[in-house]
Amino acid sequence: MSPDPGRTAQLRAEELGARYDAVRARIDEARASASRTDEVRLVVVTKFHPFEDMLALARHGARDLGENRVQEAQAKAERWDALGEDAVRPRLVMIGHIQSKKTGAVARWADEVQSVDSVKVAEGLSRGRLRLGEEVGAREGAAAAERPAPRPLRCLVQLSLDGDTSRGGVAEEGLAEVCASVAGAPGLELGGIMVVPPLEGDAGAHFRRAAEIRERVRARFPSATEFSAGMSGDLDAAIAAGSTCVRVGTAILGPRPIL
Ligand SMILES: *Cc1c(COP(=O)(O)O)cnc(C)c1O
Repeated sequence: MSPDPGRTAQLRAEELGARYDAVRARIDEARASASRTDEVRLVVVTKFHPFEDMLALARHGARDLGENRVQEAQAKAERWDALGEDAVRPRLVMIGHIQSKKTGAVARWADEVQSVDSVKVAEGLSRGRLRLGEEVGAREGAAAAERPAPRPLRCLVQLSLDGDTSRGGVAEEGLAEVCASVAGAPGLELGGIMVVPPLEGDAGAHFRRAAEIRERVRARFPSATEFSAGMSGDLDAAIAAGSTCVRVGTAILGPRPIL
């Protein structure tokens, strides 16, 4: 007898819900250990996993889902659109490297981009967001002067702590320039910074350094309150260092299929 697909889906949904709750509890423990009373946002990283997992997580209460590959993310965004207005559509967060020629597409579906790492990407996202606003306005038949401005796209600038930008991010020397370009770009809003710690060295020390850099960014750009740091393996250290947003994949969804 072949397994009952409805039953299999239900078991998977239960498993995802239990692991999501366990990660939430781990976040709360880390907050308590650090004597923090502010909230820490949880972006569930669903890359490589099927749309049905996203749906199960959203139904369980996940509000932010992260994706790192443009094409996969776009296909999943279309599935959300096809579900219609009743769906509990979460925010779709781009956390992976974006080639500058793909920025227009990302600006269409992303609710937030955490991986802005160049002036070129910021400019492309800005143009894409403005174009989207014009299209929506034209579809609704409003005169150009009466069209509402498009909802700004919240962007975090990704910092590369070791300057090895092959893993994404901008080196510290270039950070202020990219932040300024996001802050000044129409259609974009600078929300803060994101960091993936280098593989070498102590993650806690990396997070503390990133937190200091974030303070300097915030002193200049008051809207830059978000400090996105911490994944399945190191979210506790990141929260101790002041992370306001963790991005967790494996601890909730299990191992990603190897391509
Ligand atoms: C994949 C990914 C994550 C999630 O990593 P896990 O170790 O699976 O929790 C977080 N951040 C970024 C930028 C990623 O690409």
